[in-house]
Amino acid sequence: MFVGEAPGRNEDIQGIPFIGRAGSVLNTALVGAGILRSEVFISNVVKCRPPNNRVPTRCEVEVCVGTYLDREIQTVNPQIICLLGGTAVKSLLGVDRLSNARGKLIEIDHTYFATYHPAGAARNPIWLKAFQMDLIKLNQLLVAKR
Ligand code: URA
Repeated sequence: MFVGEAPGRNEDIQGIPFIGRAGSVLNTALVGAGILRSEVFISNVVKCRPPNNRVPTRCEVEVCVGTYLDREIQTVNPQIICLLGGTAVKSLLGVDRLSNARGKLIEIDHTYFATYHPAGAARNPIWLKAFQMDLIKLNQLLVAKR
């Protein structure tokens, strides 16, 4: 299971996560890692696009996680929850810096793995490479868990 921050404009209109530019970065990395998009559940911390694409507030996060994301996680029962970017990491792990969580398995009620947000990765070639390598590592961890 993958968890991003919030729907972008296209995602908000169509009700499907990661179908815009960030989605194509995610898709490319999934293919490179040998992960089928059809075999993963993709979601977001909050379910609506905040005004002007701002970062969701703590209150919005608490309401959306409590109302939706917690239940999605319960229903999907994922092997690993891959957190995409700082908002997902802060919201689900309570960790302020992505770098403190990135690239390793973290067990807190569920098994988490954190990496860059694809939109951030698209803006920085070093992060993009690291993001792609993280998904390769994630797939290896998934295979090892089976
Ligand atoms: N960014 C996100 O965090 N989620 C989406 O679904 C699209 C862009």
